[in-house]
Amino acid sequence: MDALGIMGGTFDPVHFGHLRLAEEALEALALGAVRWIPSGHPGHREPPVASGLHRVEMVRLAIADQPRFRLDDAETRTIDPTFTVNTLHRLRAELGAERPLVTILGMDSFLSLATWRSWTELFGLTHFAVGERPGFQLSAQTMVGGLALEYARRAADPDALRGMPAGAIATFPTTALDISATGLRERLGRGASARYLLPETVLAYIRAHRLYR
Ligand code: ATP
Repeated sequence: MDALGIMGGTFDPVHFGHLRLAEEALEALALGAVRWIPSGHPGHREPPVASGLHRVEMVRLAIADQPRFRLDDAETRTIDPTFTVNTLHRLRAELGAERPLVTILGMDSFLSLATWRSWTELFGLTHFAVGERPGFQLSAQTMVGGLALEYARRAADPDALRGMPAGAIATFPTTALDISATGLRERLGRGASARYLLPETVLAYIRAHRLYR
């Protein structure tokens, strides 16, 4: 059965770091598709600056010419805080228990996994594909709160993930792009150029709607 990648985030705004992460996960793990899920009001971090509607539209523009990228705007349609565990239960209800699901994360996000709601439950719902990100490393020092133990138990080859529905952790190399939404908002806020850091269509949308000013 085709494995489905899940790319969650605030995407405030979406940028080439996100797009390459998903594209390289698609390739490295031979995923059938990647579903992009902009978070609503995230349960574990500061509220996003742009509204859910704007963040969804920016992702729609960013992924428009990659047919294997799909948009799922369900999280932004609810006022409930977004927790990954709830998202995954929703996807399992829709897709069944057998479909391999692969949550795609940058290494910085993976290192915070042990702080996520019901984090140990997640391994029964999804695999994790962790893209290397400049400045972050997997080690006993960086994997805190029991994460090192889970990693030792679950580390697997990217090819192994398609053979089971959930429970493994694979890392894959990514092109290092030191781009962050925080950095982009800061640039846009002071009127500096953000060209070549995110798709031109997204930048045009940001200008048209006067976001991040
Ligand atoms: P912010 O700066 O607002 O925290 P961000 O740019 O890190 O945002 P998020 O929406 O929080 O973006 O991230 C969504 C996912 O994309 C996370 O798993 C994160 O690790 C990953 N990611 C973000 N930027 C990059 C990048 N430059 N390279 C690789 N992965 C990235």
